[in-house]
Amino acid sequence: MKVRFSASPAAWDEWAPALRAIDPGMDLHRDGDPASFDAIIYAPGGDITDFTPYVNVRLIQSLWAGVERIITNDTLTQPLARMVDPGLAQGMAEYCTGWAMRAHLGMDGYAQDGTWRNGQIPPLATERTVTILGMGELGKSAAAMLGGVGFSVTGVSNSGRAVPGIAMHPLSGLDQVLAGSQILICLLPDTPVTRNLLDARRLALLPKGAWIINAGRGTLIDDDALLQGLQGGRPAHAVLDVFRTEPLPRDHPFWSHPGITVTPHVAADTRPATAARGAVDNLHRAMSGQPVANLVDRSKGY
Ligand code: NAP
Repeated sequence: MKVRFSASPAAWDEWAPALRAIDPGMDLHRDGDPASFDAIIYAPGGDITDFTPYVNVRLIQSLWAGVERIITNDTLTQPLARMVDPGLAQGMAEYCTGWAMRAHLGMDGYAQDGTWRNGQIPPLATERTVTILGMGELGKSAAAMLGGVGFSVTGVSNSGRAVPGIAMHPLSGLDQVLAGSQILICLLPDTPVTRNLLDARRLALLPKGAWIINAGRGTLIDDDALLQGLQGGRPAHAVLDVFRTEPLPRDHPFWSHPGITVTPHVAADTRPATAARGAVDNLHRAMSGQPVANLVDRSKGY
């Protein structure tokens, strides 16, 4: 199997040894005659911009879960698989649970200013519902961890497909679900349908004092509507890991807003140590004509 690697130079240093450790026979290259390759391992930041000459490629395996930057390339005709990695899912679950606990326990309410604020004891997790918007690989992982803490978890996905232990709703039920979402975790891909899904009208449906944690993609929330919503407490706070422009420009109002916590797209990373096995297995499946896992549905955009 001859594989073309197209990602940033730093990714090559990290991934090449991990891939070769799993498949020592993999003929892995950073350049060469496009027609000679059987597969491509891809992440944004590499040199391939035109997929047309890769006429014999049977699979492009993305190193990223989010594929909006490759799927919008008009020259892409080859099958594309997105990244599913247990380490990525664990990292995202930890990120979401950590920030949800900050919201749940009201950690920001205890300034060291000499004031004895014992008027409000936080409810138990069992008394609070957390909503997860986007119940794919990452949403399900976050739901399992939050459910383990004791939260009652409600999920929204495109289809509303059943997930054991979770009260699931399709996209058409989103408005109704928002009204009960004291903590709203967003783990959606960037698609034409998800862009600005949380607009001024929908943010206004949140209960006063709600928190939003967005670790999916920055296009989900209308930035201006969010700034406006924060003025009225809907939401009261937003923890944002993803943005329309990354890195977030230094003069962006999100940096200094007291109702916004910015994290620099660090919620979850694909780790070669946990992800290389799945990527290699997928390439082997494609080479032997077996069904490939995690294929992207281009009509849906994820
Ligand atoms: P996934 O397995 O493809 O799941 C996507 C989920 O979103 C599915 O539940 C899908 O519904 C749902 N969905 C899609 N469009 C929707 C819509 N219009 N309305 C409601 N639900 C919709 O993806 P994943 O692996 O969980 O990853 C999710 C996203 O996280 C990625 O696309 C990426 O953008 C982001 N991400 C962020 C980081 C970070 O560090 N911040 C790291 C990795 C990934 P169905 O189940 O019905 O198909």
